[in-house]
Amino acid sequence: MDQADIVIVGAGIVGATLAWNLRDSGLDVTVIDRAEPGSATTTWTFAWMNASSKVRRGYVPEYVELSVNGSRESYQLGLDIPGNWLHATGNLELVPADGAAQLEADVRRLVGLGYAAQFLGYDQLVLHHPELDVDEGTVAAWFPTEGWIDGPALVDDIVHRLAGSNVRFRTGEVVGFDHESSPAGSTGVRLSSGEQIRAGRVVLTAGAWTADLAALAGVTVPMVARTEASVPGLVVRATAPAGGLRHQVLGSGFVVRPHRSGEVLLSGEGHGLELTTGTPAEAVSRGAAALLTLAGKTVPALRGSEVIAAGVGLRPLPDDGVSIVGPGPAVPAVYVAVTHSGVSLAPILGKLIARELLSGRPEEALEPFRLTRFR
Ligand SMILES: Cc1cc2nc3c(=O)[nH]c(=O)nc-3n(C[C@H](O)[C@H](O)[C@H](O)COP(=O)(O)OP(=O)(O)OC[C@H]3O[C@@H](n4cnc5c(N)ncnc54)[C@H](O)[C@@H]3O)c2cc1C
Repeated sequence: MDQADIVIVGAGIVGATLAWNLRDSGLDVTVIDRAEPGSATTTWTFAWMNASSKVRRGYVPEYVELSVNGSRESYQLGLDIPGNWLHATGNLELVPADGAAQLEADVRRLVGLGYAAQFLGYDQLVLHHPELDVDEGTVAAWFPTEGWIDGPALVDDIVHRLAGSNVRFRTGEVVGFDHESSPAGSTGVRLSSGEQIRAGRVVLTAGAWTADLAALAGVTVPMVARTEASVPGLVVRATAPAGGLRHQVLGSGFVVRPHRSGEVLLSGEGHGLELTTGTPAEAVSRGAAALLTLAGKTVPALRGSEVIAAGVGLRPLPDDGVSIVGPGPAVPAVYVAVTHSGVSLAPILGKLIARELLSGRPEEALEPFRLTRFR
């Protein structure tokens, strides 16, 4: 039987950034994934690094604050792990005239939180962005520090940097747990291969599969079922327009941004599909083409772009939309970290969770996100 101080189940961006923050801790850390690290939702995501959407979509203040701090933490991580994974392109959000007052109020609030944001009236918008085709009266917000995180590149970098350290990445599918009823309350995981690993703590960072896994450990994690329409999301890679795309554009029903060399990435609801995990590839392709056409109406440079690939990602969606972070109430040896917006939040969550695990003291910034709120 193998042994570790901490076992992390799931090597997506959340598990990998946590592992990074446990380096040099003196603890034996094992990160297990049944697939290639970073290959699940961390690959099939839009990966927009931002806090503005939390204000725009009316989330609770604690989640807004976590996200604003999360943006700063992404830049900090960029200093600790220099590499080609952090892309601060900026984001331009376009809003029809009847949403101007709300947008201006949201920009004001974000600026008050120390977040870089600028409101652009219609005249300023058309003056500074003649490349866009917008309806009369459209207004915008410019968020210069937003951009995108190349999750698979970051995860890959972390795996390589931690090689030979106290953190070990290995392949395996966790299919069960063995709790010990000793005062120390240790636990362990069982793998589909029949192997067992004993651990002081098991951290579940299994993304959209976290609730299933937690149930095996006797922990209830309220998440939206993967079969619900709000979980699957379309992500489309397309060829970049001549001259490229300088920054992200968020419009009605679509969002598009620069991607890896020579490509743009699109997402949004403007694809006309009722997506499920089983939507046939042919329908996904049709939806991808519809989304590209929609984006091209506002960003004319995209009219010559072609779809390269399209896929459906699964949002790890807690029931109330907000991150779940902390120990299982009845099984404290099992710790859960699951969140939507995990690309934006992984840098700060990884840091706070590691601090909490290492010190044994609750982190104040994580208190609003405990499982106990669902009681
Ligand atoms: C369409 C779409 C758009 C999105 N847009 C954004 C955005 O713009 N900005 C943003 O911040 N976030 C966005 N998100 C959300 C974000 O992508 C996720 O929150 C984030 O990627 C989750 O990372 P994770 O590490 O928790 O999960 P994952 O990357 O899914 O990693 C979980 C890992 O657990 C492993 N695993 C699962 N079960 C087991 C098991 N039993 N045993 C072993 N391993 C297991 C899986 O193989 C996987 O590698 C989007 C998501 C989608 C789907």
